[in-house]
Order: sequence, then C-alpha cells, then structure tokens
Amino acid sequence: MLFKDMNLHPNLLRSIADRGYTETTPVQDRTLAETLEGRDVAVQSQTGTGKTAAFLITLYENMLSGQTQKWRSALIIVPTRELAVQIEGEARLLVRHLKFHIGCFYGGVGYEKQEAQLRQGTDIIIGTPGRLLDLSEKGLLKLKEVGYLVIDEADRMFDMGFLPDIKRLLQKMTAPRVRQSMLFSATLSRMSRKIALEYMHDPVFIELTPENLTVDTITQELYRVKSHIKPNLLLGILAKEKPANALIFVNMRHTAFKLAKKLDLNGYRCRYLSGDLPQLKRLQIMEDFMEGKFPFLVATDVAARGLHIDDLEMVVNYDLPQDHENYVHRIGRTARCGKSGKAISFADEKFGEHLYPIEAFLKQRIPEKPVTMDMFATDRSLEYEAQHKYERGPETPGRSGGGPRGGGGGGVDRNRGGRERSGGAPRPRSPHGSGHGSGSSRGH
Ligand code: ADP
Ligand code: MG
Repeated sequence: MLFKDMNLHPNLLRSIADRGYTETTPVQDRTLAETLEGRDVAVQSQTGTGKTAAFLITLYENMLSGQTQKWRSALIIVPTRELAVQIEGEARLLVRHLKFHIGCFYGGVGYEKQEAQLRQGTDIIIGTPGRLLDLSEKGLLKLKEVGYLVIDEADRMFDMGFLPDIKRLLQKMTAPRVRQSMLFSATLSRMSRKIALEYMHDPVFIELTPENLTVDTITQELYRVKSHIKPNLLLGILAKEKPANALIFVNMRHTAFKLAKKLDLNGYRCRYLSGDLPQLKRLQIMEDFMEGKFPFLVATDVAARGLHIDDLEMVVNYDLPQDHENYVHRIGRTARCGKSGKAISFADEKFGEHLYPIEAFLKQRIPEKPVTMDMFATDRSLEYEAQHKYERGPETPGRSGGGPRGGGGGGVDRNRGGRERSGGAPRPRSPHGSGHGSGSSRGH
C-alpha cells in the first residue's frame, strides 16, 4: 500500500516521504492495519523487513490522534544498546516534521545525561531492560504514564536472559487494556507468545513467512572443511569472490579476535565485535562498519543481532551456529529489503553437527560445494607473526605492541601502521588466492 493513500497525519506523511519510503512493506501493511485501529499485536517477521517503521509510524500516528487524551509516552524495550541507537536514528528521521521528544536509555554509560533528559520530558523512550528498570526505581521513569509499549526483538531479549527484567517492567505498568502494546520478533517462541497473552490486551498475532524462513535472494553455499584450515579457505574465498564487504560469524569471543587479526594481517581491513568489548567500543565499531569505514567484521551472535547493514554482500558462517534459528538471523543480514546476497557456511568437525538441525529448521538442504585444493590461500599472517616475534621477542601480556589487549578493544590495526607500510609486514590488498597451496599443505 502507498503511504500517501493511508489516512495518516499530514506531517507524518511528510516525514515518511522525506525518509524515502513510498510503499509499505508486507509486515508494515499487516501491522498498521491492526495497530492504527488501536489493537495490540504480536508480530513475527524476518530481520530486515521493516518492523521498526511499523511500530514507529503506529506510535506517531496514534499519539498524534490521541492528543485530546491525557498525554502518554511510548516505551520501546530492546535487547541491546546498538539496537536502541539504531531505532533512535530511525525515530529521529521519521519525527522530522513532528514535535515528539525522543530519548535513548541504556547501560554502560553514566546516568546524568539520561536522567536530565527524562526530567525534561521524553515522549518516545527507547531503552534496554536493565537501565530502564534502574531509572524507574529512581522514580525518573514513570512506567505508569506509559501509554504505548513496544517490545522489539522479543525472542532475542528472552535468549539473553532479560525475561525477569521485562516482567518487572511490565508489572509496574498500567493494565494492558489501558495502553497499546506491540511485540516484534524475527521468531515468535512460546515465551514471546506467552508474554503477549499475559501482558497484552487481546493481541492479534501476525506472522509472515513462518514456513520459508530464508529469503530467496540469498545464495547459500556450504563447505565441509577441517577447522584448522578454515582460515585458508576463507582467505581463498575472499580472494576469489572479492566481496566489497562481509560479516563473518563465529561462535566464540576468542575466535572473533583471532580471526579478525588474521584477516587484517592478510590485507583485509577487519575488526571484531564480541560481547566482552565495552559497550561504547562495540557501538563505535558497529557504526564504523555500517558507514563502510572498514569492510570486514567478525562477530559473535550476541554482538551482531538485530542490526542491519545496508548493502552487505556476504555473510560467512565461519562456525555454524549452535542455535538453528541464529542461522536465519545471521544470513538475513544480507539481502535486506530485496537485495541479493551470499551466505557461505563452513561445516567442520566441531560445529558440523549443527547442520542437521539447521536444515531441518529451514526445511531445505544448504547446497554443498566441493572443497578443492585450489580454493585455499596462504595465510600471510603466519609470516607476519613469525617476523613480529623475531623482531620484538616473544609477546608478553599487556605490552602495547600487539598483544591481544594492546591495540585496544575492537581494533587489530593499531600500533602496526608504521611497520606495515615500511614493508615490515606483508599486507597485500588481495592475496590473489588462486593456486596458493601452502595454506592447505600446512594444514594436512
Ligand atoms: P527489521 O526490524 O524488520 O529487521 P528494519 O526496520 O531494520 O527491519 O528495516 C530494514 C530496512 O528496510 C531499513 O534499512 C529500513 O530503512 C528499510 N525500510 C523499512 N521500511 C521501508 C519501506 N516502507 N520502504 C523502503 N525501505 C524500508
Ligand atoms: Mg528490528
């Protein structure tokens, strides 16, 4: 449906047009049909389908048309700070011709600014569960005054252990029938349904694509490979396919760090994102990646879920996810809003066992590609590391020359710049992967 044909407030229509949206996405269509009538909804729709605008447009329109009533704020609960900031960004874009005050509230940073903002009055409150609870306990966030509630990435939030916090928040609010509540998730687990039924007023369940979970525009490929030569295969694939950017998923934090460093030393500008990095650092890395400041990012599920990167060409499951639903979330990062993308997965002796549940969940086989020797590329980081050790002596923890923490949180590219450029380290832009056999021969 065209937005301009919808009976929305003229200023909201202008904001939507300025944002560049002309037509609703399917999930927006189905959601707005219910929510603009004031009904509660629990919505399942894949990542990247436009759920954010679905609830923001609902909030703005209903808050505008409800102005004769006592003013009530909207609360949007999200699992991560990154997502909070992302939603804030979209909210600000869509508020352009409106007068709502938007605030973002999350942990890991000081309270002062956030408290001041609440005192001044905030109409659209976006936040993570823990910080919202803190602020409500301090009496600054008045949960009884919340007239609109959004729970975004609900299943994710429960996966991350936020259920008790969310329940506490919900219990402090007014009765479900005197507010409008909306729940959104890429999947609707039993827990999400239960929360919807318990804390929402007669919610309409809207489910899109529950059967065929992956979008057709994603090309999926599976490679069976031993774990110790995965770096060489990845390097070979990157050299051959030359993606403009790629998001690489791993299962463990230490793999994220090590692999990012490896890729970086091989000439692929790369950083890593994992849950143990400080919030601010994670946010910065994510923003830089989204802005294309560096093309490759290695991430764990917790760190990357719910975010979107426009024009992501490739997703790599360097480790197959332990949770089959995460496969869908991961590869859904590419091919957003109809664009095409590629999803490459490695099945190794450690995580290969997760393939069966993933395929059972997808109700399809992931096309397997034979692995041949010419696909492997030499891992130049080994050369660099050997030289590095020779020049500087064995690494001691805490020294600033390149120990895991030395370069500072997310980066692996600091303190190396001078050396690389002076020729001390190999940093080929593209390792021209074909024909390098040494990587694989090392491995066997
Ligand atoms: P989800 O929350 O479902 O994962 P998002 O809300 O993050 O998805 O939206 C994914 C992308 O689609 C964003 O880049 C957003 O700007 C874009 N988008 C949303 N609605 C529309 C629309 N009606 N027309 C065009 N693009 C849209
Ligand atoms: Mg979303």
